[in-house]
Parts: sequence; structure tokens; C-alpha cells
Amino acid sequence: MATITENLQAVRSRISQACSAAQRPADAVTLLAVSKTFPAEAVRQAHAAGQRAFGENYVQEAVDKITALADLRSTLQWHLIGPLQSNKTRVVAEQFDWVQSVDRLKIAERLSEQRPAHLPPLQVLVQVNCSGEDSKSGVPPDQALALCEAVAALPRLSLRGIMALPAPTPDPDAQRRALATVCELFHNLRGRGLSLDTLSMGMSGDLEAAIVEGSTMVRVGTALFGHR
Ligand SMILES: *Cc1c(COP(=O)(O)O)cnc(C)c1O
Repeated sequence: MATITENLQAVRSRISQACSAAQRPADAVTLLAVSKTFPAEAVRQAHAAGQRAFGENYVQEAVDKITALADLRSTLQWHLIGPLQSNKTRVVAEQFDWVQSVDRLKIAERLSEQRPAHLPPLQVLVQVNCSGEDSKSGVPPDQALALCEAVAALPRLSLRGIMALPAPTPDPDAQRRALATVCELFHNLRGRGLSLDTLSMGMSGDLEAAIVEGSTMVRVGTALFGHR
């Protein structure tokens, strides 16, 4: 079985090949290692191989890992990528560096109020539902501008961009269209004067397609840590 270090090298080279195929600079895309369901020890191994940004879906599981890896805290960046309920916002505001799954104003307002003053602003992405009724989370694209503008105005948050999780489809053209729609939305939002630098889209199975369409951050779990 390949080790996490070998998997990281393989994923990094997939990213750099996709960047060069798309004629984008090699550093145009950040790798977020999705460590959900894997133990703190797996994160420690990836960190030893140079990985810094990690994504988690479940708040309690993440907090347990953040605690277990407290000795590495200053060199780790924790991203929440799973759905967030309002009763969990305080611990998220206190423990995470990024939240990629903001899809309503109430959650953003709570995160801003609850972000401790001694920490830098919480880095935020608005999650967009680009697959219609197929997926439950995310703001519909036609409401993304209003939500982004409201989030950008909150004092303890820094709005960085949008995140999309297209519903899985076996049809490569449909997949490509969903990714292209998100990218178009990202550019429209920037055209409206929002200063956004992060388009989080692409996972183990579609990172090349996402990079061609303009992703700046891919969220990779299975290809790094194995099947869940
Ligand atoms: C689990 C998850 C991923 C990683 O998916 P893989 O197919 O394992 O790479 C990425 N993004 C989100 C939001 C996830 O929940």
C-alpha cells in the first residue's frame, strides 16, 4: 500500500500537470488535504511530508484532532468543509482558520460575533449549490451575490471566495458544465467588485477538470488517505 507521503507526491504532481496543461502557474492551485474519518496520526504524517492545510467535515471529530495536534497548531491550517449548524458556530469560530461551507447569513453573523478578538479574522468561503435540487447544501447561484456582499461586510470575517461541491455524475460533459458554471459565477462576483481570490472546487476524482475550469483550491481526501 502506498504511504501518505507517496500519495501526496502523486497528488502534487497531478496538480502541477493539470496546471501546466491549463497554462496556469504551478502555484495557482492550493491543495487542501481532507482528513475526515482518518486519525490525527494521518494528519501528522502528511504534515511531516510538508502538507499544511487540512479539511474536516464534522466539528467534533475535527476538534478532537486539533486538540491531539496542538503541538503543530501554528503550522496547521484547519478548514471546515462540512455543513455547519448554528449551535456549533462558537467552537468553529474559536478553533478553525477557514470555513468553506457558509450558506446563510445567520451562520456568518454568528461566526463573526463569536470569532475571538485575539485571532485573525476567520477566512470564509460561501458554498454555492451548482447542482440544483441534487444537493442540499449551498446557496443557489442567483442568491450568491447578495450573500457574499453581506458576508463581506461582517467585521470578524474575511470573505475569500466560493466553494462548490457538484453532485457526482458519470457524465463528463455534465461534470464539466457544473464546474464551468461555478467558475463563471466566481468571475461575475469579482466583476461586481468583491475582492475574491479563492475558488474551491475539485476532489480526488475531478481535480484535473476543476483546474482546467479555473479552480484555485482542490479538496482531496481519498487520493491521499485512502478509501473511507
Ligand atoms: C469528503 C469531501 C471531499 C474529499 O473528497 P474525495 O473524493 O475523498 O477526494 C472534498 N470536499 C468535501 C466538501 C467533502 O465532503
